[in-house]
Amino acid sequence: MATQTFNNFIDGHWVPSAGGRVFENRNPADRDDLIGVFQESTPEDADAALAAARRAYVTWRLVPAPKRAEILFRAAQIIAERKEQFARDMTREMGKVLEETRGDVQEAIDMTYFMAGEGRRQYGQTVPSELRDKFAMSVRQPLGVCSAITPWNFPMAIPSWKIAPALVCGNTVVLKPASLTPLSAINFCNVLAEAGVPRGVVNLVTGGPEVGTRLSTHEDVAVVSFTGSSTVGRLVNQNAASGFKKVHLEMGGKNVIIVMDDAQLELAVEGCVWGGFGTSGQRCTAASRVVVHEKVYEAFVEQFVRRTRALRVGNGLDEGVQVGPVVSEGQLETVMKYVAIGLGEGARLVTGGHRLESGAYAHGYFHEPTIFADVEPSMRIAQEEIFGPVVSVMRCRSLDEAIAIGNDVPYGLSASIYSRDVNAAFVAMRDLYTGIVYVNAPTIGAEVHLPFGGTKATGNGHREAGTAALDVFSEWKSIYVDFSGRLQRAQIDTQDL
Ligand code: NAD
Repeated sequence: MATQTFNNFIDGHWVPSAGGRVFENRNPADRDDLIGVFQESTPEDADAALAAARRAYVTWRLVPAPKRAEILFRAAQIIAERKEQFARDMTREMGKVLEETRGDVQEAIDMTYFMAGEGRRQYGQTVPSELRDKFAMSVRQPLGVCSAITPWNFPMAIPSWKIAPALVCGNTVVLKPASLTPLSAINFCNVLAEAGVPRGVVNLVTGGPEVGTRLSTHEDVAVVSFTGSSTVGRLVNQNAASGFKKVHLEMGGKNVIIVMDDAQLELAVEGCVWGGFGTSGQRCTAASRVVVHEKVYEAFVEQFVRRTRALRVGNGLDEGVQVGPVVSEGQLETVMKYVAIGLGEGARLVTGGHRLESGAYAHGYFHEPTIFADVEPSMRIAQEEIFGPVVSVMRCRSLDEAIAIGNDVPYGLSASIYSRDVNAAFVAMRDLYTGIVYVNAPTIGAEVHLPFGGTKATGNGHREAGTAALDVFSEWKSIYVDFSGRLQRAQIDTQDL
């Protein structure tokens, strides 16, 4: 079969990069499976996309928000119709199992519907003026051209988290997806165009850091919304700072599950298996640390290991497979490097620890689900984001100690506690310094209508999803209308009752 070539989407047209270079996208479960070739774009391609977005903004910002929302609603319907195909494309390009890629596409549907609803809300405030015959209100305003730079682990959901709120607020967008997963982003943009998004309002440019850098620095960009590693996020932040851009960063995580001695142990184990090894541990919210009360520690480790050994690893397209490959050779090398670091630090490897490379695994990037027990909180495997199927289990003697261990990492995305004690749960909800907390559920499973994001090296104070996303993609304008027919001076004309 001839290799399919995918283009950039600029000003309503699918066009090749001006530089003429392309890159391959291969299935991480089977390197022989070539999905297609994509544009290795240049900064000049980014410039063309940004120019189209700037032109389109002139009219798009004036389209009534409920009308913008109707287009999003149609887009959500189309994605729902094609959910299965999009999920299969996604499993092929990034490896996670079909059940999870269906979830990823569903999240894009949910977000697009949710933001379609916001077309008729975007509430501001009307407040009494301190002066007679004067009206005071605040309204949301779009900002202009937004850059969206996205990672590979939620290839359709994350672009939707950025593009849907940006559009409903009246902005235009240039998306640069991760080079490991361009097809899912292209599928999403294709649907938006089909649903009626006018030309230039959404543009897509594939490629690497050069394109990302241009999207973070170009003078026409008002907002940079980035999801990815903290290392790259810091660069984006620095690059965008001198132009006073609004920068929204969603970055790494080192999320914890606390298992107290009164927890329903089987439920906690099930949560740790799903939280730790879902998406092969490649979720920003993955439960890569588990802190277990000493009274149930041995029993927990024994059950956790048993359940983990039973996981079926394989090609995510095969129904019944529970853990797919990791996304790339580089990611596999990182996982193996951290397994060696854990062993070197003296942690106890209780299951896994090896690459899988024989038989059906020979052509992919597979790694055994891996658990280290007796990990010390200061070890690198307990501090650094690995982003693979490796979980560190630690021991604690009290809730306070568990929360202290939970908080003692550079990141602050998600945390969870398993306990039947309502008091303990509320203390954890208050004291875990993360953007998301779960009780009796693992660290993953966010829903689109609540804010999503984290503290410390995970984020810079903004939130994705929910109505919080509108705060990223709009700014407030306060408006005063004086209908008194005379000059009234705030704070000065005070005695005129
Ligand atoms: P990454 O930081 O390597 O890349 C993210 C994006 O930035 C990609 O599109 C990449 O091409 C682009 N990029 C690379 N260099 C750039 C530069 N100099 N300027 C601008 N853009 C540049 O991340 P990744 O490997 O794709 O994804 C994994 C990371 O994403 C993990 O750290 C994970 O925790 C994080 N993540 C966070 C969230 C969240 O919401 N907090 C969600 C998913 C993933």
